[in-house]
Amino acid sequence: MAAQTVATTPTVDLGPAAALSCRECKERFPLGPIFACESCFGPLEIAYDLPAGDPEALRARIEAGPNSIWRYAPLLPVPADVARKPSLNPGFTKLVKADNLARELGVTGGLYVKDDSGNPTHSFKDRVVAIAVEAARAFGFTTLSCSSTGNLAGAVGAAAARAGFRSCVFIPHDLEQGKVVMAAVYGGELVGIEGNYDDVNRFCSELIGDPLGEGWGFVNVNLRPYYGEGSKTLAYEICEQLGWRLPDQIVVPIASGSQLTKIDKGLQELIALGLVEDRPYKIFGAQAEGCSPVSVAFKGGHDVVRPQKPDTIAKSLAIGNPADGPYVLDIARRTGGAVEDVDDAQIVEAIKLLARTEGIFAETAGGVTVGVTRKLIEAGLLDPALSTVVLNTGDGLKTLDAVAPTTGPTATIRPSLDAFRDAGLAH
Ligand SMILES: *Cc1c(COP(=O)(O)O)cnc(C)c1O
Repeated sequence: MAAQTVATTPTVDLGPAAALSCRECKERFPLGPIFACESCFGPLEIAYDLPAGDPEALRARIEAGPNSIWRYAPLLPVPADVARKPSLNPGFTKLVKADNLARELGVTGGLYVKDDSGNPTHSFKDRVVAIAVEAARAFGFTTLSCSSTGNLAGAVGAAAARAGFRSCVFIPHDLEQGKVVMAAVYGGELVGIEGNYDDVNRFCSELIGDPLGEGWGFVNVNLRPYYGEGSKTLAYEICEQLGWRLPDQIVVPIASGSQLTKIDKGLQELIALGLVEDRPYKIFGAQAEGCSPVSVAFKGGHDVVRPQKPDTIAKSLAIGNPADGPYVLDIARRTGGAVEDVDDAQIVEAIKLLARTEGIFAETAGGVTVGVTRKLIEAGLLDPALSTVVLNTGDGLKTLDAVAPTTGPTATIRPSLDAFRDAGLAH
């Protein structure tokens, strides 16, 4: 099952990463390009020897680090000198205090937008790819690959170009033009697959087990345990930017669910290390109605996530069979959060709401989180009196099609003052 395509040496240096550990049966394996437990087929994750000792000293060390995810290198599966290697240096994006949006939504406890559109390829995927690249280097891969709903393909293409890898990435054939161009412009191979994301992912799993894919590091398949850790940096940054405090509530978009589970892991680590005070927080998951397998399971009280065939404008979240779905359900229930969904019209409305209140142009995934936040407040599930962080994980310029039909010039006029007066726009 677990494809061991490259011989690993026991001397792989991935910093504090000690081993791979099965999330189900807890069996441990040496660090390598494997992703499923050899005993029970459960997903593998990284187990660490994290720096013990004085939280004050660790905080100071982090604060003195670079303005990128590499400031958290002591908590990531990367070599200590990672910041000196060629990388896009993602992360340390803005945490925007969204007072105007808070007024619109009736939030009084402090509302923040963590705006990951500010990453090098304009989505949160640069975080996860940067970590996977270090694993690919350590395991001797020369080609980087992925199955992508769009943003990941661009992030892999760009990171490969910068770090000196060949890249060949796979996407569904019908993505937005902005995503296709972003994925192709960095010069790697881009392959459109006639099917949806779940078809692309199945194809990549077959390719890994075949000699055709030998020597390839698929960032979200055989490097998935490493890739996933990149999402922890969102949790670290949010807490550091809040003055080393946990937010009360976080609203996170769900595609495969990896990001949400790793944000929880990151918060747990900060608590365990004494970097933040140990107090409760709630994690909320957000999906589009047209691809809402986790939301449906949550609301139905189920433990099993039933796959769907996606049909939504939120294409970056259109994974009908999310690998981490059951873990997302656990986290939402354990923390007292919820999982909710909004329809396409509500997504567009929320994109415009965020743009007109805060000057942030989100991609459809950001419309999903903002729209779900509003819906959760209305349903009494999200407490407006508590501090709340909403993630915007991508840039609206990549999903122009979503808003273009309902957004355009207020008027088009001849270049004369009379025409302008007639248009009724003078104040
Ligand atoms: C990939 C992606 C996500 C979340 O992905 P997970 O698979 O759940 O980790 C969220 N937003 C955007 C814009 C993405 O591209």
